[in-house]
Amino acid sequence: MEIRNYINGAFTPPQSKLWIDNYNPSNGVIYGKIPNSNQSDVEAAYQAAAQSFKTWSKTSAEKRSKILLKISDLIEKHSSLFAEAESKDNGKPITLAKTVDIPRAASNFRFFGNAITQFYSESHSNTSAQVINYTLRQPIGVVGCISPWNLPLYLFTWKIAPAIAAGNCVVAKPSEVTPVTAYLLGDICNKAGLPPGVLNIVHGLGSTTGQAIVTHPNIKAISFTGGTATGASIAKTAAPMFKKLSLELGGKNPNIIFADCDYQTMINTTVKSSFANQGQICLCGSRIFVERSIYNKFKTDFIAKVKALKIGLPSDKTSNIGAVVSKTHLIKIQDYIIIAKAEKHTILLGGNKVNVKNNEDGYYFEPTIIEVNSNDCRINQEEIFGPVVSIMPFDTDEEALNMANDVKYGLSATVWTNNLKRSMYFSEHLQAGIIWINTWMTRDLRTPFGGVKASGVGREGGFEALRFFTEQKNICIKY
Ligand code: NAD
Repeated sequence: MEIRNYINGAFTPPQSKLWIDNYNPSNGVIYGKIPNSNQSDVEAAYQAAAQSFKTWSKTSAEKRSKILLKISDLIEKHSSLFAEAESKDNGKPITLAKTVDIPRAASNFRFFGNAITQFYSESHSNTSAQVINYTLRQPIGVVGCISPWNLPLYLFTWKIAPAIAAGNCVVAKPSEVTPVTAYLLGDICNKAGLPPGVLNIVHGLGSTTGQAIVTHPNIKAISFTGGTATGASIAKTAAPMFKKLSLELGGKNPNIIFADCDYQTMINTTVKSSFANQGQICLCGSRIFVERSIYNKFKTDFIAKVKALKIGLPSDKTSNIGAVVSKTHLIKIQDYIIIAKAEKHTILLGGNKVNVKNNEDGYYFEPTIIEVNSNDCRINQEEIFGPVVSIMPFDTDEEALNMANDVKYGLSATVWTNNLKRSMYFSEHLQAGIIWINTWMTRDLRTPFGGVKASGVGREGGFEALRFFTEQKNICIKY
């Protein structure tokens, strides 16, 4: 499969003439090639976007909304095609792609298609001074959207949909590791009547294509989701250029379990929050803290439930765990097992690569539970972003809270308790942008999404995303 850039509504090979291999994680075989776009490709995408901005920014919100809703409908109509492509490209189980990734990509367009018709700005009147102030929210211009590989179309569209809903034109880059569904999206946009140049998709490495987007002098805002180190490097480049920045970065989220919780719901959800998408979700609860009185029971039950998960081909409907995304990522995960052993933790389950019959070169890894001897260790402080969780007991609320917060990240946190006072206390004091009490990854697209500390800057979701993708201008009238 040859992937091409989508520029000005057309599919074009890269001017760079450079290509990158695309691997199938389920068997390690190269099954396609994608452009490694250079500055000229990004410039072409920018020019198309800048030209379209002249009309798209003046198109009514109702008309923009209609096109976004149509894109949403078409993703739904072709959901099997998208789900199969996503599962093959990323290694995630087909059931997950069908039930989570692709429906959510369609919802992103539907949500922001509707939201833009309800978006509003402020006005302040001062009748005694005979002055009225009102605020315009104008589209920024050409914006850059850069997304990661873990939830490819889901996160790509989470940025693009609000950007174009708000009247911007976009130069977007999906992860070079999972380019296929973004490529398929171009065709859907054409079918939905999105004017050429409103969305431009350039493929390639972060260090070349991504960097060319970030350094482009006229791309005025960057919405980025990815690793914390990449976010820091983007901020370093973009800040002196005075670009607007939204950074959604890494996490090392605590999952705090009290003895007074609904045990069955907690344990079933904890299996998911630990290993869904092979643990490659920024919101996964990778540090599990359990109140000591139920620690041994939890340990036994959790191991038994995780052991029952089926590791297999992503295309097999019965697989719970597919392949991790790349060989590089598999090696990173394996390295953390070596670190866990060196730090003298106990590996309770897993820790090894899995050979799936006839697909021995695929990137499969056992769901792994490590009993750590302290929170102050690399296993608990560094983002592994794979099917690896740590567990350890705690004795008091204070101890659990301190360990949960004692990490550089602050994306999300989950607390399991039926004690209202305790849940309120933890909600107030946990250092994270998203707190789940007695649930995990329950999302309402109207809510602000994002992290604190090294997990990012800014919020996406709901009107927050539309605010990010618009520039405010205050007008003061004396009458
Ligand atoms: P990554 O940072 O390596 O890459 C993300 C994207 O940035 C890719 O498209 C990549 O090509 C591009 N990129 C890399 N270097 C760049 C540069 N110098 N300039 C511009 N673009 C560049 O991240 P990844 O490995 O693809 O994704 C995993 C990470 O993403 C994890 O840390 C995970 O926690 C994080 N993540 C965060 C969220 C969130 O909402 N906070 C959601 C999903 C994933």
